[in-house]
Amino acid sequence: MNVQEALEVLKDNGYKYTGKRKDIIDFFSKENRYRTAKDLLQYMEPNYNGISFDTIYRNLHLYNELGILEATELNGEKHFRMKCDHHHHHHFICKECGITKEIRHCPMDVINSELSNFEIEDHKFEIYGRCPECQ
Ligand SMILES: [Zn+2]
Ligand SMILES: [Zn+2]
Ligand SMILES: [Zn+2]
Repeated sequence: MNVQEALEVLKDNGYKYTGKRKDIIDFFSKENRYRTAKDLLQYMEPNYNGISFDTIYRNLHLYNELGILEATELNGEKHFRMKCDHHHHHHFICKECGITKEIRHCPMDVINSELSNFEIEDHKFEIYGRCPECQ
């Protein structure tokens, strides 16, 4: 998802376009990796004096619900990144810097045969570790 698409999603769901909301989207678009609420707060603070952790968290959850961001738990803390919107794939996620690498093979291709009598609704698959830069 790019900045323009994210702003459209906000508009389509009746959320007002504000500088703050756009700055949050800009942050995740520029970072292009998993970041925490704390990272976002640090980025916002110079421009929004006194912005609360609560405001940051509320927006992150809203964006997650609207499908603008995706979330995962890393090192016991919730992390967010701009949601991918193209073809089905999975991610390797670096626990140090939060970058992701796309994995195009889906393990369900192999697993499906073991679940032939079951109705599968959805699945999640992520690999965690350290990227070449962080090793
Ligand atoms: Zn992706
Ligand atoms: Zn890394
Ligand atoms: Zn898959």
